[in-house]
Order: sequence, then C-alpha cells, then structure tokens
Amino acid sequence: MIVLGIESTAHTFGAGIMDGQGNALANVKDSYVTKKGGMIPARAAQHHVEVCGDVIRRAMETARLRWKDIDAIAFSQGPGIGHSLRIGAMMTRSLASRLGLPLVGVNHCIAHLEIGRVMTRAKDPVLLYVSGANTQIIAYEGKKYRIFGETLDIGVGNLLDSFARTLGLGFPGGPKIAELASKGKTYIKIPYAVKGMDVSFGGINTFLKNMIREGKHTKEDLCYSLQETIFAMLLEVSERAMAHCGKNELVLGGGVACNTRLQEMAGQMCRERGARMYVPENQYLTDNGAMIAWLGLLQYKAGNRTSIEESVTLPYQRTDDVEVTWRN
Ligand code: AMP
Ligand code: MG
Repeated sequence: MIVLGIESTAHTFGAGIMDGQGNALANVKDSYVTKKGGMIPARAAQHHVEVCGDVIRRAMETARLRWKDIDAIAFSQGPGIGHSLRIGAMMTRSLASRLGLPLVGVNHCIAHLEIGRVMTRAKDPVLLYVSGANTQIIAYEGKKYRIFGETLDIGVGNLLDSFARTLGLGFPGGPKIAELASKGKTYIKIPYAVKGMDVSFGGINTFLKNMIREGKHTKEDLCYSLQETIFAMLLEVSERAMAHCGKNELVLGGGVACNTRLQEMAGQMCRERGARMYVPENQYLTDNGAMIAWLGLLQYKAGNRTSIEESVTLPYQRTDDVEVTWRN
C-alpha cells in the first residue's frame, strides 16, 4: 500500500510518499526562511500557498507514481500554527475529494516518533523531540504516547531562533548558533532550568538578551554556553524518563536534533547507561511529509479514517490525546 503525506504545521510545506515496507519513495519539502527577523505566520502560510502544488508534483515525479497508485492521503492535523495548518488541510481535502481517496489526519509529534522508529529500527524508544515550537520527551505506555517531560514555555528551537534574532541573524537560527558555538572557548554560567521532569527556556532567553546588551562576553562564548546548558537540561530529563520507563533506546527527532553537539551528548549519556541512541537522517528530523505519510499508513492499516467533516485543523492537539491503535 502507498500513502501520500502532507506536512504544513509551521515553516515547512512537505509532501512524502511511503510504501508499506517503510521505504520513503519521495520526501520533498520547501521551507519558509528569512534573511533577517523571525517567522511571520501569515507569510509562512502564503509561502505554502505558493509552493504546495509544485512540492506535491515533485513528490509524485520522484516516486514515479500516478494518482491511481496512491491508496490514501495523510495530513498533519495538529498541533501547529493555524495559518500554516489550514493550507495543508485544504490541499489534502481538495485532492482527496477530487480523486476519491480516503483521508487520514495525523498528529505531528507522533509522526516524528514513528518515522524515527521505522528509519532507525528502534523498537520501543524514548523520543527526545526538539523542534521550533515543541519540546517533549515521549514514550509509549498503556495505548498512548505519553509526555514524560516538556517545556513549560517556549520550544528549544524558538529559543535558538529568538536568540539568533537578537544577534541579527535570520530564520532558522539553530544552525547559525551551532556554527558560532563551535568557535566558543569559555563557558559562561547560564540559568539551568529543569523543574521536575520539565524544562523552561523563557528565562534563559531574557538572560541572554541582557548579556548581549551588557556586551561583556563574545557571541561565540554565549552560543557555546547556551548549547552546553540547554542540551544538558534536555538530556537530564530524557535520561530520567528512560530510567523511569525502563527503556534502553533513545531516538532523537525534530529540527534541533540536527545539531551534532546534541547528538554527541546524547550518545555519551546512552553509552554511560548501556542504552542505544538513534538519529534518523536530517531530512527525517526536520519537518517532512514522509513522516506524515508513514503515520498515516500505520493508522490506515489499523482502520483509522478521517471524514471531510472531521478534517478540521487541531492547532492545540496533544500527543497524549491520540489513542495508539497501531501498536500492540
Ligand atoms: P522543525 O520544526 O522540527 O523543522 O525544527 C525547526 C527548528 O530546528 C528551528 O528552530 C531551527 O532553528 C532548528 N534547527 C535546524 N537545524 C539545526 C541545527 N543544526 N542545530 C540546532 N537547531 C537547528
Ligand atoms: Mg516538528
């Protein structure tokens, strides 16, 4: 069976095609970027309107398929930015009704976890999901993907993007911060905000802005110290979730997981506790259509369908709202 997946929760419009064996036949995306300043939701949505037709056509061409080969269309129903979500949902509804194909709405965060599982062959991992708006530590327990820890305010990617903006860099800021961090030499103490199983990044953001205003430290040292601190926070909570759930696999997901220093620190933590760390390729870490297609395929096989009436966007949907029907 073959499923087309449409991703449009935030800055990326993606179209991916997966087969029933877990092969990605296509994974095409086009992301909204800026040279200076952050992401404006209405502009991101306008970007999606402009590229959506072309991205889907390129995915079909890459996979060398015709519409009659597609069995179902999946789309990311939530969580995400309303403006962006609406474009993917509208495109999916039009395609599904025009072609008479079944439709499956999927949860974006769970899609990150399932693509990580199929691409790395991890069986029952804890997922450290670190993206722009989302920061969650997720694991399967009792028919649901439960959140064992999460950010109490902004996502870790938002922190990186916001600090990059303070430094006059454009969006996305994560890769630019990583580059500056690699040139840092001195560790500056930054607030370490782990609260129980949760993390908080809002105060760190303010702290950094003040540091820049005072001008006492180089931006390289600040970026270096920032990365060391926030990655340690994320891995402390991930490790505790692994210990609590008795799971010995960690999968990384989300755009921030492209960061090689985070990967290195996660690998070290896992080695020290005799666990394994898995990182899918970058194209499956950042938002992508293949992960939506794959979760759609799993749900479709489990009998899940979304009617046109039910296909509304769910900007605030939570990972643990979804009943996991496709795992036993
Ligand atoms: P996503 O929403 O999952 O596509 O992730 C987007 C976020 O990932 C943005 O906040 C980016 O700044 C961040 N990001 C992308 N590449 C990197 C990187 N190499 N290091 C850190 N953050 C990154
Ligand atoms: Mg994401």
